[in-house]
Amino acid sequence: MTQPSGVEKLVIIGSGPASWTCAIYAARANLNPVVYEGALTEENRLRGTLPLGQLNLTTEVENFPGFPEGILGPELMMRSKLQAERFGTRVITEDIEDVDFAQRPFTLKDSAGNTIKAHAVVIATGASANYLGLESENKYKNFGVSACAVCDGALPRFRNQPLVVVGGGDSAAEEASYLTKFASKVYLVHRRDKLRASPIMAERVLANAKVEPVWNSAVEEVLGEEEKGVTGVRIKHLLENKMRTIDATGMFAAIGHTPNTKFLRGQLQTDDKGFVVLQDPARTTTSVEGVFAAGDVADPLYKQAITAAGMGCKAALDAERWLAAKGIH
Ligand code: NAP
Repeated sequence: MTQPSGVEKLVIIGSGPASWTCAIYAARANLNPVVYEGALTEENRLRGTLPLGQLNLTTEVENFPGFPEGILGPELMMRSKLQAERFGTRVITEDIEDVDFAQRPFTLKDSAGNTIKAHAVVIATGASANYLGLESENKYKNFGVSACAVCDGALPRFRNQPLVVVGGGDSAAEEASYLTKFASKVYLVHRRDKLRASPIMAERVLANAKVEPVWNSAVEEVLGEEEKGVTGVRIKHLLENKMRTIDATGMFAAIGHTPNTKFLRGQLQTDDKGFVVLQDPARTTTSVEGVFAAGDVADPLYKQAITAAGMGCKAALDAERWLAAKGIH
């Protein structure tokens, strides 16, 4: 799409269920929205912030109403985007890298170096996967260390080899189950003796004959060689204080997510973890009038595709009412 000129009524930043739902509602309300869906860069691939968001990195989504047989995450997002475009949403495949919410209309700068002005903005940038933060982990990113089984699991280096997944939530359960398609064995390393994943996903992964849980343990170091990449992980049993090495050609971190709010550079109120703070928890209003937030970026509690979609709808309605009250729409 060509760069917008003039002042936009509504710019939506993000590319997941919150963003596309917001765009569908806003486009149908004649707000003529622009969605910045993110840039196609290697940096975004590593951070998990490519267009179509986290659902594009998952497999089957079984809990989104309307799909009794389930639907693939990427398909759900692609169909949502098409639905938004059907009503006239304009989509730009760039990141928003900088914002100025101090002056009105707001100014946004994108990764292509363009400047966009907007009366209202919806932040729906989601969250991205955390890593353990070990130096050895960083060294082998792309050489056996990943935070996305769906993106990387089918690579030759992971086929018929033992792999390690770290974490105990739904992501870890999902990643470990998915990796059993390729791996000879999956060690699920968790720092407790019980998964926090939902019961159905926990039962499924623990019933898989290829999965071996490694309880009460933490990864101390990712082991590897220059040419081969990851060859194993050194783990510590946290109760017995004993070290052990697991041979593996890959380690997948599945230890939660951090909201993508760095680009805001403190111009919106966020909590200590970086989530945008909603001024009224029943709505999508933020600390700056005319800026709204929806989805995982503003949701430390539920973080579901369906709750994100619901928040996206609320953000469009909040933006529309606010623009109307200001006489802009
Ligand atoms: P999560 O529920 O926050 O779980 C993170 C896991 O990683 C926890 O088990 C945590 O351990 C562990 N952990 C965190 N930091 C760690 C560290 N530094 N070292 C070792 N372990 C660490 O995150 P999530 O699994 O990504 O799920 C996020 C949300 O998305 C949830 O609401 C989940 O329901 C949803 N989700 C849903 C699906 C689905 O329904 N298909 C799939 C994926 C995610 P502790 O248990 O000790 O805290």
